[in-house]
Amino acid sequence: MAIEAVAGASATSPAVTVDADALRSVTLSQMIGSRMSTELAGALSNAGTGVGIGIGVLGLSQVPSITPGDGAGSSTHVPALLSAYGNGRIPRELLTLIGIGQHRLWGPAAEAFKSMRAAAATDGVSISVTDSYRSYDQQVSLAAEKGLTQNGGWAAVPGTSEHGWGLAVDVDVDKNGLAWLRANGTTYGFVEPATREPWHWEYHGAT
Ligand SMILES: [Zn+2]
Repeated sequence: MAIEAVAGASATSPAVTVDADALRSVTLSQMIGSRMSTELAGALSNAGTGVGIGIGVLGLSQVPSITPGDGAGSSTHVPALLSAYGNGRIPRELLTLIGIGQHRLWGPAAEAFKSMRAAAATDGVSISVTDSYRSYDQQVSLAAEKGLTQNGGWAAVPGTSEHGWGLAVDVDVDKNGLAWLRANGTTYGFVEPATREPWHWEYHGAT
């Protein structure tokens, strides 16, 4: 609309109407370029504080080597924003309640989960959750309690659980619920990485 207003104003003088298009496109590209420069400057400014660097550089180096178990699989779906903080060290403000007790997931995953759960309810399917985000300390406790997968237990090595990213939920569903998830989960970005653990679902986002 703003562009039209500019064009309209220029068009008030027939003599410059033809040139107005060229002028307008130049101005527009300059505006876009200026805006991009501003955003880039902002990003660089953030990088200067260490925050941006953390996302771009530390994020990669801190992605832990993944061992099997507790859904620990490929970490390629972990957003750089999260991997920059580290597994089990996601800031509280990035975690959102999913509508079941105090269970939280990374914001976008939480929203997707809520949509999925609502859709399931519409189909008469109930999805509950027994576990969600797990801090590093909670992963340590769980490993002590349930044993490591590599030792026949059910817990991932602390710092490698998908729960540490705020991307995994352990669901409590009946047979119909599991069938519903398997049929519809991917629509909401949730996948079942290991049928050995049918309760464990991960948010991998749009595929
Ligand atoms: Zn799990």
